[in-house]
Amino acid sequence: MSLFTHQLAIDLGTCNCLVFVPKKGIVLNEPSVVAVAKPENTVLAVGAEAKSMIGRTPDNIVVYRPLKDGVIADYKVTQAMICYFISKTRGRLAIFKPEVLISIPVGATSTERRAVIEAAVAAGARAAYVAKEPILSAIGAGIPINSCEGNMIIDVGGGTSEIAVISLGGIVTAHSLRVAGDKMDEKITEFIKKEYNLAIGSQTAEDIKIKIGRAFAIKKEDFYEIRGRDLVSGLPRNIKVSSNEVAKAIHDVCFDIIEGVKYILKQTPPELSADIMNKGMILAGGGGLLRGLDQLITKSTGVPCFVAEDALLCVAKGTGVVLENLDVYKKSVMSQK
Ligand code: ADP
Ligand code: MG
Repeated sequence: MSLFTHQLAIDLGTCNCLVFVPKKGIVLNEPSVVAVAKPENTVLAVGAEAKSMIGRTPDNIVVYRPLKDGVIADYKVTQAMICYFISKTRGRLAIFKPEVLISIPVGATSTERRAVIEAAVAAGARAAYVAKEPILSAIGAGIPINSCEGNMIIDVGGGTSEIAVISLGGIVTAHSLRVAGDKMDEKITEFIKKEYNLAIGSQTAEDIKIKIGRAFAIKKEDFYEIRGRDLVSGLPRNIKVSSNEVAKAIHDVCFDIIEGVKYILKQTPPELSADIMNKGMILAGGGGLLRGLDQLITKSTGVPCFVAEDALLCVAKGTGVVLENLDVYKKSVMSQK
């Protein structure tokens, strides 16, 4: 990337897409969801509007999360989504095509990387560049990534958890798990089905997690009342769910994330381990906001873990810092040429 005036950056998350414009900051923050009409495949709605349709559509409308596992599962729909986000943030009077920086998961293959770049170009970008999510997340969390000290970042998103050790501006070891916030929602849905014979939608499961979810059981629990459909009578029924029940339901998901963290700690060169032990690990992403996840990670690994400020915004803030200081971070940016 060189000196150019029209630029923007996209945190292309499995759950949420954020757009950053230099000098303006985060100008858009919407769910990564697209509603498509069948069989014509026309895009009906994108973002918040599409998310409000989840679980409420007639047969001829399908609501997609095109990035479900962190990579482009559906190329056309992803392109339509990027196109919508670019046009929405640029306004009608924009003449010049923007140059776009997009975050990609650390585990993305070169084919997947190319797909993101091609989708952005097809969506109206003059040129597109990508950078790895854990690096952006670390920058957004305020970590001085170019120093020679080791830093560890754990980004728990919707579809993926990305765990990485960074030193001298690069990734030393990294691991991407396809287990994160969405899996917690699935486990809550399964638990309520099994314990209460009640069917609930994915939005309700997410609500439960955000309102009262916890990584481990505690004495003074919280409760939350929800409504679902009784699987025997078929009629609507209300139940009260407790935070300890949520902890039980999502236990395996937290366990998998912790195993991933331990795996990376074992792969980390000793000098860098010592730095991480001193400074602690940083927890980011929306899933990182689950109550007690930081404490559970600390307790299970013996290494202190802290939740980043604005955990949901770290990647977007990181893309902003990179765009505004390209000379400092050019090593972290990749293009396809
Ligand atoms: P992605 O980068 O994959 O788009 P995000 O970092 O935006 O993901 O995080 C989205 C995930 O975080 C979702 O699974 C959402 O339910 C979860 N989440 C958001 N806020 C909270 C919260 N307060 N507690 C627990 N999970 C949360
Ligand atoms: Mg993310």
